[in-house]
Formats: sequence, structure tokens, C-alpha cells
Amino acid sequence: MPGCFGIARLLGPSYSLRCVVFHHISDAECPFTTGMNVRTTPKRFEAALAFLTKHYTPVSLEEVLTDSEGGALPARAILVTFDDAYASVVEVAAPLCKEYGVPAVFFVNAAFLDNRRLAPDNLLCYVANLHGMETVNAAARSLRRNETPRLRSLNEVFGSFLPSLTLSEREVFLAELPRLAGIAERRLAEETALYLTSEQLGTLRSFNFEIGNHTYTHVHCRSLLEEELSQEIDRNKVELEGLSGTQVRSFSQPYGSSVDLTDTLARHLERSGHRAVFLSESVANPRSVSRHRLDRINARVDRDDTLFLDLEVLPRLRAMRNRVFRGSSKTQADRNFSTRIN
Ligand SMILES: [Zn+2]
Repeated sequence: MPGCFGIARLLGPSYSLRCVVFHHISDAECPFTTGMNVRTTPKRFEAALAFLTKHYTPVSLEEVLTDSEGGALPARAILVTFDDAYASVVEVAAPLCKEYGVPAVFFVNAAFLDNRRLAPDNLLCYVANLHGMETVNAAARSLRRNETPRLRSLNEVFGSFLPSLTLSEREVFLAELPRLAGIAERRLAEETALYLTSEQLGTLRSFNFEIGNHTYTHVHCRSLLEEELSQEIDRNKVELEGLSGTQVRSFSQPYGSSVDLTDTLARHLERSGHRAVFLSESVANPRSVSRHRLDRINARVDRDDTLFLDLEVLPRLRAMRNRVFRGSSKTQADRNFSTRIN
């Protein structure tokens, strides 16, 4: 393995902080996540922790924030993060991280705490899996947008349809989905208990987990008006800080795309006390990287060699390609960077 690291370095030596993102750690496949590629089994997650602690130095957000020049972090520093408020992170991942001595950041949407409602992605996934895309299309047509094309897959819904909606249109669409599918959303959310409770949020500190902001309702931030930033960004920060008694000082972009990190959002995040911002485009962070634009890797952890490829080789190749295309508009390949839904 050490030789492999040497070969990977030939692709580009400038690779400082590695960041990885996980979502749902569970053995059980379920209609709320099937097709979203967000699930990692506990066995493979533990194998990934063993790999990371053997070949890397796990660091905390605090260490990242205090390393202002980017040179003080240990060699092969790696930051482990989780997105999306899944209860499995507290119940399964956090104890394993503690056992392996791995600190982490958990980016949470306060709207889903205590399972009062379903996150948009899980609701969409559930309706598509059990009722088909016809029901999703019927909900989309309720917006009476003549230009709405027929949606054929969840990738189209997450990749182009949802980002095109205003916040109020999105709420109409998300209200129509359970109505058309005949679902009692609140009861289903309570029964399934996918997300962590307020009480569990308070226990994260004992696992050396820091809580971060992932917007209040998991939105594409490009669609937010300036006056709506407060209800999605500030409200989430205030509620999470109130419930956990800890400071929220980092933000991860729902869906992970740099397109959503608009100048307006970047300014708002900085003004509101977010000292680190994370994307998920699986690109290597160069030594000069700003803490306000750190990239994370959606690593495949099914085998150690694919994990190595995803952590060391592909992020460097993408960074090289980005340098070549710097200044040009986003290519289709850029848009296809992340195959997972974040
Ligand atoms: Zn997310």
C-alpha cells in the first residue's frame, strides 16, 4: 500500500485535507433509501474505519479550523463527516468511530429531528419505489408549469427538477406527493424513525462528534432568495445550537454541488459564523484550499482497493481536469461528478 500512495502522488502532489462523507449506516435496505445510493453496511463502514486509521490520520474540525495556513495538519489528514440526520449515525456509526478514535462532523437538518416529517429525498424515494414515477409526475404537474418535462428517474428529479423550483413551489410539490400517494406522512415518519431525536443530538459530543448545518429542510440553495437564507440557514443553526448546547460553525451544501454555493450564500455563511463550508464533488483539496470551499469524497467502501481509488486517484484526476477547464462553464462531466445523492 505505501507504494500505491507514491504512485498516486505522481498524479498531483498538492492534496492536503481529505474529507469523506457518509450518510446512512444500515444493514437493511428500505424503500426510503433504495435507489439513492446513500447506505453503507455497518460491516463495510467498520472496514473503512480500519483502513482510514491504518493509512491516514483522522482529524477533528477543530484541528482543521486552527490550521489557518494549511501546513500544520498531520500527513494524510482525513476528516470524516456524515450528512442528513439519519439515526443510524448515532446508533451505529458514532460508537464505531469512538472505538477507532475517529472524530467526526454530523451535518443535520433540524426539520427532521424527532421524526415529525420525512426529508424530501426519502419521501420522493419512497413514493417512486412504491407508487412509481407516475405519482411523482402527477405531483410535478400540480405546479401547473407547462414546461415541466416528464420525469423518468429520481436522478432527473434531484438533478434538474428540484433545483428549478422556488422554495414555495417545492413545498407545494412535497405536499402533493403524500396526498397523491395516499400516505399519512407524519405517521409514516414516526413509525419509520429514520432520523435522530433531539435527545440523541445531545449525546453526540460524548462521541467526539461536532454538529454542523445542512439547511433546515435540505434545499438546493441556488433556488433561495436572499430573504429566504435566514429561514433555511440561520434557523437551522439556532435550533441545533439550542438543542445541543454546542456551537454550529460549519455548513455542508445539500446535494454537494458548487453551483449551489452562490456568492450571496457564501457571504451569508461567513457573516453568520460558519467557519468552514463543505461540498461533495469528490475533488482533491489542494494545499491552498479555502476552508470556505472544502470538497468531500463520496467514497465507495465495498472494498479497500476501490476506497483507495476513490480517495487517492480519482479526486486528483478530477482536480487536474478542473484546472484545465478553469474559467470555462461547467461540463457535463462536472455535473456528473457525484453519483450519490447527498
Ligand atoms: Zn444531504
